[in-house]
Amino acid sequence: MISVAFLSTPGLMDPLEPLLRRELPGLTCASWPEEASREAELAVCWKPQAGALAAMPNLKLIHSIAAGVDNILADPSVPDRPVCRIVDPDISVAMTEFVLWSTLYFHRDFDRVIDNARTGAWHRYAQRAPQDTRVGILGLGTLGTDAARRLVDLGFSVSAWSRSAKTADGIRTFSGAAALDAFLGEVDILVSLLPLTPSTLGLLNAERLSRLPKGAALVLCSRGEHLIADDLVALLRTGHLRGAVLDVFEREPLPADHPLWREPGVLVTPHMAAIASWMVIAQQIAENVRRLKRGEPLLNAVDRARGY
Ligand code: NAP
Repeated sequence: MISVAFLSTPGLMDPLEPLLRRELPGLTCASWPEEASREAELAVCWKPQAGALAAMPNLKLIHSIAAGVDNILADPSVPDRPVCRIVDPDISVAMTEFVLWSTLYFHRDFDRVIDNARTGAWHRYAQRAPQDTRVGILGLGTLGTDAARRLVDLGFSVSAWSRSAKTADGIRTFSGAAALDAFLGEVDILVSLLPLTPSTLGLLNAERLSRLPKGAALVLCSRGEHLIADDLVALLRTGHLRGAVLDVFEREPLPADHPLWREPGVLVTPHMAAIASWMVIAQQIAENVRRLKRGEPLLNAVDRARGY
């Protein structure tokens, strides 16, 4: 028998509980801050309250319900236990669809045409070949690699930036902080697929975004905290940047009166790029519980020192 505590905003994980019970017969469940949740061995989290995990002395495994673990590791008091994330081919497919759509949105001038349609302006833009559009991906991990490969298949000129050096067929690779400016200097559409860590927090600021060539666009599908939104808006207003598709925000849901909704050139989407199904989440958590019991290596455990 194992006991689980759900740590999230109230009600968010309601669909998960029956699925997890089916996977793990005899499971006892509680939601933080119920008294019983303090005794749990497994914590299933989305933005747990600071200090909550440290107040659970029997904890053996901390599981994110998402691909990212920044929502957990943001709390410095998180105890030294394995932290796992969800990695699922369907998430990669969904993210790649989102990146392909966003790339085509700028590459085929849909941003301009949709704008022109508001005033009935019939204007055709010169058609470009995909190899003439340079797509740069920040982060060549699970999601970045899948998106980059599909963009290469479509004929785009693709480059990518990662922490460690990598080689990938058809992709120009850059690595490390020293190579970031060179990478940014040759990108028409910048796609962020980085994890949020202390070294990537606020990375997309005025200095970095100014390194992009004039007329470049941003696609942010990583975390809102990667971007200094005011710096983006300033560069859009000077005309240095062409536009942005923003899927993630420091504060979610983005309030209805937030100026980004109405900023010309910005398209806001509601953190929809890639969402794991509750079934997959339940299956992966259950598999890790079984592995934990058998003393086997866990799936998709993150490196606490790296932060992802
Ligand atoms: P991942 O497999 O861990 O890959 C992360 C990549 O980022 C790796 O290539 C890593 O470099 C690179 N990286 C990390 N820190 C870096 C640094 N300081 N400098 C340069 N490169 C760095 O992560 P993933 O599964 O692809 O997911 C990426 C992120 O996407 C998640 O953390 C999450 O925030 C976001 N996400 C968003 C949605 C959405 O719906 N919007 C959905 C799912 C995920 P190395 O290869 O050298 O380690």
